[in-house]
Amino acid sequence: MIRLLFTVCNILFSFALFAQNEDSILIRKIADEVLVNGTAYSNLHMLTKKVGGRLTGSPQMYKAEAWGEQALKDAGADKVFLQACNVPRWVRGGRDEANLIVGGKLEALYVLALGNSVGTDAKGITAPVILVNSFDELEQKKDEIKGKIVFYNYKFNPKFIETFWGYGDAVRYRGGGASRAAKYGAVAVLVRSITNSTDNFPHTGAMRYDNVNPKIPALAVGSLDADKLADAIGKNNDVKVFIKTNAHTLPDTVGHNVIGEFTGTEFPDQYITVGGHLDSWDPAEGAHDDGAGCVHAIEVLRSLKAIGYKPKHTIRVVLFADEENRGDGGTKYAEEAKAKNEKHIFGLESDAGGFTPRSFSFMLPKEKADAIRSKWIPLLQPYGVYMFTIGFAGADVEPLNAALGTPAAELNPDSQRYFDYHHSPNDVFENVNKRELELGAINMTALIYLVDKYGL
Ligand SMILES: [Zn+2]
Repeated sequence: MIRLLFTVCNILFSFALFAQNEDSILIRKIADEVLVNGTAYSNLHMLTKKVGGRLTGSPQMYKAEAWGEQALKDAGADKVFLQACNVPRWVRGGRDEANLIVGGKLEALYVLALGNSVGTDAKGITAPVILVNSFDELEQKKDEIKGKIVFYNYKFNPKFIETFWGYGDAVRYRGGGASRAAKYGAVAVLVRSITNSTDNFPHTGAMRYDNVNPKIPALAVGSLDADKLADAIGKNNDVKVFIKTNAHTLPDTVGHNVIGEFTGTEFPDQYITVGGHLDSWDPAEGAHDDGAGCVHAIEVLRSLKAIGYKPKHTIRVVLFADEENRGDGGTKYAEEAKAKNEKHIFGLESDAGGFTPRSFSFMLPKEKADAIRSKWIPLLQPYGVYMFTIGFAGADVEPLNAALGTPAAELNPDSQRYFDYHHSPNDVFENVNKRELELGAINMTALIYLVDKYGL
């Protein structure tokens, strides 16, 4: 009896080992394909240099859509189509300006209007500036705010090892600072850039007005100039700032999710989504945010086709419209999936840069995450991913999770340099490393393969 049990165990073990081997061999094949014949880097070059910055609703956004359609066809998609959705159309309208004025002396500050901000008039605004380090301090100084420009000098907390936590902590000043200051009569706000970088690039990004208080212009200021401004305010009591921006909002327009499919062989009407967002902020090329995610997703389809893999489920690459301004692309995709009663197995996004992959974050019940962790981490570890966490997924696939309960995930590359570039003029192609970008694509493809084969 014991002998029989031993034999059965041995057979089961060999099967498990065989499956493990088969998977590691296939993932090795994916890796070789991406590293030797990969197109993620050349695709990113095209998107960043031929299209460039692609603000939601702008002419460049449509150029990016056309690029995406062609790139998906070139990758071998069986079907490429556009899914229309309403998107906002915020326009910067030219160069944003600011001057620090101390004792009649002017010094230029490096600024960028925040996305969705209103503009000034043609003359701009000149007003005394008041520094607050936090919302608490704003409340303490509320009687001194009227007629002034509020400067939010909240610093990116360096204690977070994962820099996205630092971003999450500081971004409330960018998002809601203007309305909170307007409540006490501020005429504009300057916000220290949400970054841990040591350079002077201003970092833009979306802000929102509430429906109660006046809409006042909101601009990000580069870190070094934020220090300079704080220093000037500390030493003088007659510090003024001049700001001028032509930012404005036009009526909503129609943008598109660009979708390419690799048809499933067993369950063609069951979908695995993998994507990134096609829009970006305008001052740069949207290379890390989120050109990298778009080319990662395209490379998933291309590399699986290239190695002759036949997916069971239909793999859908989605280049989402408008993540940055209002999140319309992801919302629309989930709405349509629900309206059409589509069956979605999994949604994966890359929207955290083209750096060396470290982990995947899942929206998945704990016991399921535990089960895949022990089996799949050993397969991914040679290519960089050593950890599965539970919590978030990408902003564009989370709506799918909310609408249909679809398990969702996001690639988490190393985060140390991400906020050096994020939403700033130096988010350019030159700051993406080919090798690191490709490792991201390998891990994304391997995960899609494992989900297609074993489910979740
Ligand atoms: Zn992004």
